[in-house]
This record gives sequence, structure tokens and C-alpha cells, in this order.
Amino acid sequence: MSKYYITTAIDYSNGDPHLGHAFEKIGADAIARYRRLCGDDVHFVIGMDEHSQTILQPAAEAGLSPQAWVDKMASVFSQAWDKLEISHDDFIRTTEARHARAVVEMVERTRKAGYIFEDTYEGYYCERCETFKQEKDLVDGRCPEHPDREISWTREDNYFFKLSAFRDPLLRLLDEHPEFVQPEIRRNEIRNVIEEGLQDVSMSRPQRQWGIPFPSDPNHAIYVWYDALINYVSAVGFPDDRYREWWPANLHVIGKGITRHHCILWPAMLMAAGVELPETVWAHGYVHWGGRKLSKSAGAPVTLESATERYGPDPLRYYLLREVPWNGDADFTWQRFDDIYNAELANDLGNLANRTLAMIHKYREATVPAGQETRLDRRAAETLDTYRRAMDAFLLHQGAACAMQLAGAANVFIEEEAPWKLAKQPGQSDQLDSALASLARTLARLAALLSPFMPGKSAELWRALGDDGAIPPLTAYDRLDLAGARVERQAVLFPKADS
Ligand SMILES: [Zn+2]
Repeated sequence: MSKYYITTAIDYSNGDPHLGHAFEKIGADAIARYRRLCGDDVHFVIGMDEHSQTILQPAAEAGLSPQAWVDKMASVFSQAWDKLEISHDDFIRTTEARHARAVVEMVERTRKAGYIFEDTYEGYYCERCETFKQEKDLVDGRCPEHPDREISWTREDNYFFKLSAFRDPLLRLLDEHPEFVQPEIRRNEIRNVIEEGLQDVSMSRPQRQWGIPFPSDPNHAIYVWYDALINYVSAVGFPDDRYREWWPANLHVIGKGITRHHCILWPAMLMAAGVELPETVWAHGYVHWGGRKLSKSAGAPVTLESATERYGPDPLRYYLLREVPWNGDADFTWQRFDDIYNAELANDLGNLANRTLAMIHKYREATVPAGQETRLDRRAAETLDTYRRAMDAFLLHQGAACAMQLAGAANVFIEEEAPWKLAKQPGQSDQLDSALASLARTLARLAALLSPFMPGKSAELWRALGDDGAIPPLTAYDRLDLAGARVERQAVLFPKADS
């Protein structure tokens, strides 16, 4: 059993969770569930980035202390992830003591290694990114991630991290380990940024009322980005030796807007402190609304709640991962959501399940017969290969599409075999057995293939096939035999929407 440690970016506590946050959690969750389905021992961590200065205003407006505010937000986010069946093993919060001690240790190791110095910073600072920006990074004089806000000119005394020392080691990292930044388009961007030369970066801010104090200089707080990135090691116990049980991480899942922090600053921080690097950073794209990124400042016209309540959590998970390429962007529209729900979930998959169960009831007294392998089983074996290639390459939209194509092939198989005709001819009994057995196996395989996308519905489908246990791992996919299983009369997985 191999170990697999996967993380998402931790969320800011300054606003409610929206579809953009959910897209990242759902995608990472699908990867975590897929790895478990492959038999891996998975550790999946999500959490909250709580030392942002941007929480101070909403906290004050709500009449809460900063800590009470982040406690409240952590609970709001946590409930949203429970509703969406996110299967995380841990929820790290940067205000926890286990995190602060890891941050202090990282600073100490980095200082000892000679990569920290004091200086004055002068330049642009985006309050929303909480990041210093160079003039060339601005678009029309504004932060490209936050074009609706003015960017401010800042001057302050800070501790600096000697990022410039890591230009060559980082280029070497990208050459020797191209898998470190994926997809490739993001790697090329990162390589260009590094090649242009790296500037040293501030790792502290003059002490405000909120943040982890800088070791031996409480007049400064540790800069929130330096603080936040360390969650990936603090969550698994750094600096205690036990962190090596999970570290280095196999996969950091992040949005494409924060690749510089994760693919330049983070590996440099780890190199400086003498800690091993993660294997891969995957930068996904965005869920758009009317061609624009969904965000708090864009005044998201679709709430996470309304999208979850439309058909329940699984159809939303499926729609997002099927529709928005995991390596690109796409619009969320209610029309596409409804179309995909009706065409793929209610018709292709839902009808396949109901027709198959109904025929097993009608022709074989609710018991799956023993039967020969059919062309549908061979098709299912091909599907598994294609599916694994897509999922191993993190192309979740292709994995979902490929599973659903198997459902389509099974519907065609029913039309071609016409079990209702076979049932009228006693001489065709074996062929009917084989067709029904093969269809039952296909439903079981679909339950497995779709479980990373729709864990709840897949479990329902698996139970309708007469098994109360867990969906078997993909290694058992070829040998699935349901002969003798007592199936339910029907499985109303995706009730038709009233329209
Ligand atoms: Zn910004």
C-alpha cells in the first residue's frame, strides 16, 4: 500500500465559501477518493488561512474578536465541506498552536542557514493578495487578480527572505523534475518568472494586532504568506519526526492565481530550511460566471448553497468536474447544469440502473444470474485503462466523461441485446443470463468509476446491487462477479427535475 499525501490551498477567513472554493475541494477530493480506490493509504488535508489582515474589518463590524471571527468562519467552511462530502482527514487552522511552532522552527532554521536579513521595503502591495507586487506584474496599474481595487504604495522595515539565492536551484528543480509544476502551461510561466531573476521577499510585517510574532522580535509578525504555506508541513506534525510519515506531499492542489507562491517561494523556503520538497503542485483553473472568475469581490451571482441545493451535492460535484476542465476554465451556467443533470445523470445513468434492475427482477426473480463475459465487459476493461490514464494525469473531466461513456455503451448494449425478446425464447436463456450478468457488472463498475465524483450516489447504486459493504477497489474491477446477488427493484438515483 503506498502512501499518498494530498492538500488543497487553505482558505481565507474573510468571506463565505463560494463555488470557486468548492471546485478546488471537490477536485482534490475526487483525486483523494481515486487514490483510495487504487488501494493507496491517503492523507487529505484542507484548512483555513487565518492570519490575514483582511479579517480585521469584518470581525470588527460583527463585534467579534479576530479569534472569535476565525472560529466562526472555520465552522462555516467546515459545514460547507461536510455537505459536499469532502473526505478530508484533517482540517488545519493557522491559528492552532501546532502550526505556530512549525512556523517558528522554519524561521529559526532559515535564519541559521543565513537566508534572512533586515531591510526596508518600498513598493506596491495588494491588500487582497497580501502580496508585494512589482510594477511589471500590474495590469493597468492594478493587481490582475483584483482589478476592481486600487493598489497601495508601501514603505516599511521588514525581515527579508533571500529568495534571489534560489534562482539556479529552482531552475534545476524544474529541469530535473518537470512533474513539479503541472499542467505544463503553468510550468512554462513559472520558468519564465524564475529566469527573469528573483527578488528577495519580505517575510514579516510591522506588528499589527494579528499574526504569529517573529521569533526574537515581537515588533514584527510573520508575513501571512510565509506563515500560510507552512500549513502543509505543520498539519503532519513538523518539526517532530512523525511528519516524515506523510511528508514529502505527493500533491498540492491550488488555483492558478497562486502558482508563484507555491512553485517558487514554497520550494525555496523548504530548500533554505533543509526540508524535502513536495512531488507535484497542480494549478487548476477557475469556475467562471459570464466569462469572469467567481470571487467574493465579483459579487458571485450563484451561491454555493443554491448550487448544492439544486439537485443535492453529488450532481453539483459531477457537473463541476465534468464541465470545468481540471486544467482550464469554464463558465457555470444553470442551463448547462440542468442539461447535464437530465441528459447524463437522469437519462444515461439513472435509466440504465433502473432498466437493468427492473429486468433482473422481471426475468430472473431479482437475482443476478451467472453468465458469460460479453462485449460490454471487454468495453468496460478498455474504459478502465482510459479512465486510469486520465485520472493519473489529473484530467478529472476526462475521467468523468470516460465513465459516463461506459453508461452510454451499456444503454446501446441493452437495445442491441433486447432482453425482452430473448426472454420470449426459451432457447436464448443463456444469452439472457449473460446479458443481465454483464449489465449488473457494468453497474458495479460504474459505481466504482464514478465514486470519486459522486460518492453518495455511487454508494446508493452499489447498495441497490445487493451489497452493503464498501465499493471494491479498482484492482478487483476485472474479477467482479455479482452472480447470486439479490438486487433492489429500482434505484431512483436522479429523479427528473420538474420543469
Ligand atoms: Zn491582488
